[in-house]
Amino acid sequence: MANAQVPAYEAARVSKCKMPGVVAYTFDDGPYIYNDQLLEILKKKNVVATFYLVGQMVNKTLQQQGSLKKMLEHGHQLASHTYTHSNLDLMTEAEMKSEISRTSDVMFANSGVRPRYMRAPEGRCADACTKVMKELGLVISYWNVDTNDWRHVGEKTPALAVQKSMEEINRVIVQGSNPATDSFILLQHEIHPFSVEHLADVVIDAILKKGYRFVSMEECIGEPAYLEGSVVPTTATTAPVTPTATSSTGIPATTTGAGAGTGTGTGAGAGAGTGTGGVTVPTTSAAKGDNGAGVKSAAGWSLSLTAAAAALGLALF
Ligand SMILES: [Zn+2]
Repeated sequence: MANAQVPAYEAARVSKCKMPGVVAYTFDDGPYIYNDQLLEILKKKNVVATFYLVGQMVNKTLQQQGSLKKMLEHGHQLASHTYTHSNLDLMTEAEMKSEISRTSDVMFANSGVRPRYMRAPEGRCADACTKVMKELGLVISYWNVDTNDWRHVGEKTPALAVQKSMEEINRVIVQGSNPATDSFILLQHEIHPFSVEHLADVVIDAILKKGYRFVSMEECIGEPAYLEGSVVPTTATTAPVTPTATSSTGIPATTTGAGAGTGTGTGAGAGAGTGTGGVTVPTTSAAKGDNGAGVKSAAGWSLSLTAAAAALGLALF
């Protein structure tokens, strides 16, 4: 699906999937330093996820910049969580549009895709916001089950934090749902070490055991993941792709490692200095099996609050 021609959309406020038996696993607030570790966990479990990224996080470090292509290589979906992670309901229309366009530009510059799915910080997107997002052709993504992982970073041990973060999942999905009739959009965050290191595995096992299948938001909702002008993966390959060097402007140099040669996009041109020609997006890896690599701890438990604060400077949803 390269350069998908995207028709005018009805904006949607979505909080569950269109078909039963599936769970869209969504991670907010990245890209952050635990992203590599999370990708390995998801790969080991053969689970797809959707990442709602904060625009201002992308250019923080080369690692975070490189995470966008890695997530696409692993077959995951990228989505927008605005640029500054501020309350959209307190903004003017122009400010809201800037939040979306700046995020779209930085994601395009670093991955070749412009996301169609957005999630408002703290889920705050009232009528004025909804109208703007609809004009922009975006899918406003909510959720119907929440780990509330950010509430539990201060627990004494990771095990306790996992236990508390599983309470709603256990109540709503494990005990209170039926895969024959129900579907879920599940909210988690990639900026809390316990959530990546300890919680993700437990969540995945519980949901698979209940009989659900993990899907991307694109499959969950049935609308394309990316806006016109995006160059999205089309060809399966097992060739590893390493992040390319970046120019002085922070824009990736031409990709050479993906091997699929799909770099014929019609760049939308809104990105700073991206000029014409789409960025070649790395192809989706066909190798989803367990590579046997152990998952290493990225940070000590005691760093969780510091890390979260460092991520965005405030408590996050
Ligand atoms: Zn958030």
